[in-house]
Amino acid sequence: MPALILVVEDEPAIQSLIEVNLRRAGLEVLLAGDAETAHKMINEVLPSLVLLDWMLPGMSGVDFARRLRSDPRTRDLPLIMVTARAEERDKIEGLEIGADDYITKPFSPREMVARVRALLRRHAPQVTDAPVEIAGLRLDPATHRVTAQGETVTLGPTEFRLLHFLMTHTERVHSRTVLLDQVWGDHVFVEERTVDVHIRRLRAQLEAGHCDQLIQTVRGSGYRFSANPE
Ligand code: CA
Repeated sequence: MPALILVVEDEPAIQSLIEVNLRRAGLEVLLAGDAETAHKMINEVLPSLVLLDWMLPGMSGVDFARRLRSDPRTRDLPLIMVTARAEERDKIEGLEIGADDYITKPFSPREMVARVRALLRRHAPQVTDAPVEIAGLRLDPATHRVTAQGETVTLGPTEFRLLHFLMTHTERVHSRTVLLDQVWGDHVFVEERTVDVHIRRLRAQLEAGHCDQLIQTVRGSGYRFSANPE
């Protein structure tokens, strides 16, 4: 799944500068000119990362960042603040409200893309192409291949994305809502039991390589990927 970057920026020239460079880097882009529009977009699809301008018409970028951090659904959303204000206290305020990084205008497009990529690597490894291997199960996003104890596993696109997310976020319990957001990109219009159906299919495909037990059901909460027995 390519990374989806939500850019919240009211100046058209900067908006398109950011958009062009992110797209050139192979990232998908959503654009919003104000916090209200951005909020509506996030309600529909959870992006991989938000690039947020400090000065926006209406609700400021800082207030919007606070709002994102106070909602459990968006609390951990990777967030980069973009600002024309290079003062130290602004930088500190930006980091205090929970921004993960900070870019000062005018910025070089190359630096902006590098910061976005670095933050994605740290916080959203499921949108990068790095192979993952855990307890004999190996998934390679670049070649779209999965092997369990060396045996090839054939997965549908949804099972592949689901497994990729679980393998890059191990040991934590993921609710069905979180999985819908992260794997389907939609927590509103897809039914929660859809998750169960795909988990069942995924386990069935992993059974032959004895890797199905890596996906654990946590009763009443959701699912967890773990190499440690329950
Ligand atoms: Ca602005």
